Amino acid sequence: MTTTTMPTTDVIVVGAGPTGLTAAGDLARAGRTVTVLERRPNPNQASRAFATMARTLEVLDARALADDLLAHAHRTPGVTVFGGARIDLTHLDSAYPFAMITPQTNVDAALARYAVEQGADIRRGFEITDLTQDSGGVTVVARSHVDGSRHSWRCAYLIGADGAHSAVRTLVGAGFPGKTVLSSIVLADVKLAAGPVGDGLTLRSTRDVFAFLAPYGRTDSEGAWYRAMVWDRAHQVPDDAPVDAGEIADVLARASGADPGLREIGWHSRFHCDERQVAQYRHGRVFLAGDAAHVHSPMGGQGMNTGIQDAANLAWKLDAVLGGAPEHVLDTYQSERHPIGERVLRQSGLMARGVTLHPRVARALRNLVVPRLLQIPAVRDAVAGSFSGTGLRYGRGGQVGTRAVHIPLTRSRLTVVQRTPGFVLVREHGTGPVDAPGLLHSERADDGPAVLVRPDGYVAWTGSSSDQDGWRACLSWWSAPASVASRN
Ligand SMILES: Cc1cc2nc3c(=O)[nH]c(=O)nc-3n(C[C@H](O)[C@H](O)[C@H](O)COP(=O)(O)OP(=O)(O)OC[C@H]3O[C@@H](n4cnc5c(N)ncnc54)[C@H](O)[C@@H]3O)c2cc1C
Repeated sequence: MTTTTMPTTDVIVVGAGPTGLTAAGDLARAGRTVTVLERRPNPNQASRAFATMARTLEVLDARALADDLLAHAHRTPGVTVFGGARIDLTHLDSAYPFAMITPQTNVDAALARYAVEQGADIRRGFEITDLTQDSGGVTVVARSHVDGSRHSWRCAYLIGADGAHSAVRTLVGAGFPGKTVLSSIVLADVKLAAGPVGDGLTLRSTRDVFAFLAPYGRTDSEGAWYRAMVWDRAHQVPDDAPVDAGEIADVLARASGADPGLREIGWHSRFHCDERQVAQYRHGRVFLAGDAAHVHSPMGGQGMNTGIQDAANLAWKLDAVLGGAPEHVLDTYQSERHPIGERVLRQSGLMARGVTLHPRVARALRNLVVPRLLQIPAVRDAVAGSFSGTGLRYGRGGQVGTRAVHIPLTRSRLTVVQRTPGFVLVREHGTGPVDAPGLLHSERADDGPAVLVRPDGYVAWTGSSSDQDGWRACLSWWSAPASVASRN
């Protein structure tokens, strides 16, 4: 069969999930040519992830997507876990002291619109089957699901954002070490006449079952809609075993000790969850991101959030290197995002094991200790920051590597300034603009130092804005002057 050769692009993204769409949108916004190859002919209508965390909302706001999503979503102030313990998000140092509850389809749709508006070329119905790379670029072959024809693309860099069963991962020969942690978990959108009191996320469990409920904030005369996740130790069946209403109603009742009044079931799915992570996120000119790089328990709602943040970290670095920055900038994707992935695996695994704990004594101890710990403000804030992503940082110690979004500006807010891609120099309050064509500028409203902010919203440098050698040296490490100037 003949293979049609397609135009060369800067970056090919494989997979139009939240990770791939974020990367594609960011690269296109920075002026790069991007093609997204997606196996499915139409957007995935499976609801899947439901919680968008504060740090992801900040990332979405820097792309002007957060307000619209929030307008049609529910906001939850926290999560009630075992023994009445509560992860309280209301004290988060963020404009979003809550988690947004909305089906993943809404987030995917917003990101798809963003990618298209910025100029990314999304090709649906193309499944990649082959990939080779050399010192000059990557060649990828995809088969059309419409007519079986084969097409070949050439690009400088490729992002494998093709999910847990990533073909890109297999084609670069990367292992995916780890194991299955929970099986036969049922996810469903349910309407309940008697859901839990309050508007937060609720997790109820016994030694044999757990039920997790997230309110969508949609009610009618019959009841309210929730995302439910239920599990029964004694009912372990393959992922393709049918889900029936009786099974969901039974687990909900046993977990909470009361009949929840199940009225209706919408989208549902049975799945198992693995804990796996690739050792290397970079394979030459090929990068793995999102579920292609790490999968873990859905407890803690981190999968989609971590993928979006992987993409935000990688995209600007690819843009910088395409613009002339040194190649080793790309190695920082591994050094910054791999430890975050590891931490997410550890945290969500801990939560899954904590919830499904079986021995009575261990459960009693858990119920005694965890609620008390979570009432200590320092512990409460550390757990909430980790859960919502606002507490995550790159590197160790100091302000460099922390997120900059909370710095008050005299005009507007950082996530609005960052809707134009590039580095931002936030000057000390009362100081005038510096001469740096192409650099975005802003002025602090408080008495903190000047800060150079990376395109993904993290602090790259801090000091005095009059120390031009300092911030210019930092900028040239990350981003060649030619690339900075060309953005003006
Ligand atoms: C049943 C289920 C429930 C979940 N529940 C939650 C939850 O409650 N909370 C949470 O945070 N996360 C949850 N997740 C995980 C969350 O959905 C993922 O973390 C998130 O979608 C990852 O985004 P991604 O873009 O990395 O990958 P995906 O969303 O998987 O997107 C990958 C894309 O790549 C495409 N693709 C695959 N192979 C190829 C190929 N060879 N060529 C071209 N395209 C290809 C796929 O069609 C897909 O569109 C759930 C996942 C599942 C399956």
